[in-house]
Amino acid sequence: MSPARATVLRGIAASRGEAAGPVFVVREGPAEGGRAAADFDSAAQAVAMRLDAIADQATSRPEGAAILRAQAAMARDPVLAASVRERQGRGENLAAAIKSATDAYADRLLELDDAYLRQRAADVREIGRLLIAEAEGGIGSRLGGLRSPAVVVARDLSPADTLSVAGDLLLALVTEEGGLTSHTAIVARELGIPAVVGLQGAVAAAAGHAGVRVDGDAGEVTFMDSAEPRQARSMTRLIDAASAPVPVLANAGSVEAATSAAARGAAGIGLFRTEFMFMAQHGPMSEDDQAATYARVCDALPGRVVVVRTLDAGADKPLPFLPPATEANPQLGRRGVRLWLGNEELCRPQVRALLRCAATHPRMQVMLPMVGARPEMVAARALFAAEAASLGVGVPDIGMMVEVPAVAAALEAFQGVTDFVSLGTNDLTQYAVAADRGMDWPDDLGVFNPGVLRLIATVIESARRMAIGAGACGEMAGRPEGGIFLVGVGATSLSMTADSIPAVVEATSRLGGERCATAAREALQADSARGALAVLRSALAEA
Ligand code: PEP
Ligand code: MG
Repeated sequence: MSPARATVLRGIAASRGEAAGPVFVVREGPAEGGRAAADFDSAAQAVAMRLDAIADQATSRPEGAAILRAQAAMARDPVLAASVRERQGRGENLAAAIKSATDAYADRLLELDDAYLRQRAADVREIGRLLIAEAEGGIGSRLGGLRSPAVVVARDLSPADTLSVAGDLLLALVTEEGGLTSHTAIVARELGIPAVVGLQGAVAAAAGHAGVRVDGDAGEVTFMDSAEPRQARSMTRLIDAASAPVPVLANAGSVEAATSAAARGAAGIGLFRTEFMFMAQHGPMSEDDQAATYARVCDALPGRVVVVRTLDAGADKPLPFLPPATEANPQLGRRGVRLWLGNEELCRPQVRALLRCAATHPRMQVMLPMVGARPEMVAARALFAAEAASLGVGVPDIGMMVEVPAVAAALEAFQGVTDFVSLGTNDLTQYAVAADRGMDWPDDLGVFNPGVLRLIATVIESARRMAIGAGACGEMAGRPEGGIFLVGVGATSLSMTADSIPAVVEATSRLGGERCATAAREALQADSARGALAVLRSALAEA
C-alpha cells in the first residue's frame, strides 16, 4: 500500500469543532435539468420563492432563515429589476444585464465605510449568481448530489445551499471565499458545523484527495487519501441575552443588519444609523422609501424597541449628494443635527417618514445625533410636532445622543426636551480628549481615560435624577470591559454590533449588577486609562 499523501492548508477558523470524512466538491454553474426563465421578473420570482421556501423549513435555524429572507427581498428589489431592464434596453442579454447590475450594486456597497454593509456585497453577488443560474436553466440545489455525510468543499456556499440539505449530511464546510462575518460562517456557527473559510486552493486540493480532516478551531484543513466519517460538533453556545443585567440591543445600518440582529436575540435596535442607508443611495431617499425601510426594520423585531437616529452626516460621514464641506475643520463644523436642521430637503421627509412609521410601530423611537445645545432639541421637537399635526399622528419618544462634553457636563439643561439619552462614546471621547477617533491612539487618549469615564458616570447620574433612560451605543458598549463599567455606573441599556453581544452578555450576566458596580467605582478612582482597564479586566477574569 502506498503511504498516505496529505496536503495541509490553513484558512480562517470560522466555526469551532473537528470533523473528518469523504470530500464532496460543489461544482460551479447551474444544476442540471432546469428550465431557463423567460424574463427577469420570472427569474427573480422563482429565486425569491425558493429562498423563502427553504427559510420556511429552517425554523430551527432562525439566523439562517433570516438571511434567506433578506436575500429573497433583495431578489425582489424593484431597484434591481429597473437596473436590469435598463441594461437590457441598452442591448445586454438577460444574464449579462443581471451580472452587470448586481456587480455595480455590490461595488457601491464595497465603497462604504461600514464593514457590515461591505460584507453584504457578497450577498448581492450571490443573488446575482442565483438569478443568472435561474435565467439560464434553473438552479436546483448545488448540494443535491450529497447523499451521505461528507465534508463539503466549495468556492463559496450560500445559506440556501447549506440549508437545503439535512444538517447531519454536513460534517464540515470548507470554502475558498468568505470571512468571519460571511454568511457561510454565520450559518455554520448557527448549525454547530465546523467550518474553515477563506481557504485559497481548497477546491483544487480537494479534487486530488478522497478524504479531508477539518479543524474549525485552528482553521486547518488536511486533505488525505481517505478518511472515515467522524465529527466533534462545534462548541458554539447560544447565549441568552435576557440574562444580562440590562437590555442588550444591536446597532444596525440596514434592514439586513437589523434582521440578522433580531435572529441573534438582540433585545431591539438601540441605534439605527440612517446615514448608512443614505450613503448606499445616489441621492436622498424619498419620504415613502424611508417610511417603508423604517417599517421593515421594525417588522424585523416585532414588539422590540427600535431607536432610529436621524441623519448624522458631515465630517467623517460625508454624503455624496451634498456639497463637500469647505470648513477648515469639518469635525467642528456643520454636521449631525446642525446640518440636518439647516437642510429642509433632508429633515422634513425624514421627520414625516419617521412619524408615519411610528404611527403603526409604537415601539419605534427617534434619536438626534451630535446635539450641542438645548435650542437644537427645541427646534427638532417643534419640527416633529408640526409635521405630526399635519399628518394627524402622534409624536414618538424623542431622545438624543450625548457626544459633546458640554452636554455631558450639564445634562440637566435638557430637562423636558429629551425623553432619553444614549452615550455616543466614540465622539464623546474624541471631543473630550481632543484626539481624532479615526486614529490609533494609545489607551490614555481613549474611552478609559479618567476624564471620559467621569463624564460618562456624570451623564448616567444626571439622567437618573431626570428620571430618563440612559443607554450607551458607542463602541465602548461592545467591549466586555466597557459593558462592565457602563452597567456598573447604571446605564439602562447597551447597544452594540450584533457580533459583540454574546461576549458582553456573558461578562455582565456572570458578574451581575452589584459586582459591575464595585468594579466601576474602583475604575473611577484610577488615575490612568491603564489603571481603569486593569480593574475592569480583573473583574472580567472573574467572569
Ligand atoms: C458615537 O459617536 O459613539 C456613535 C455611536 O455615533 P457614530 O459612531 O455613528 O458617530
Ligand atoms: Mg457619533
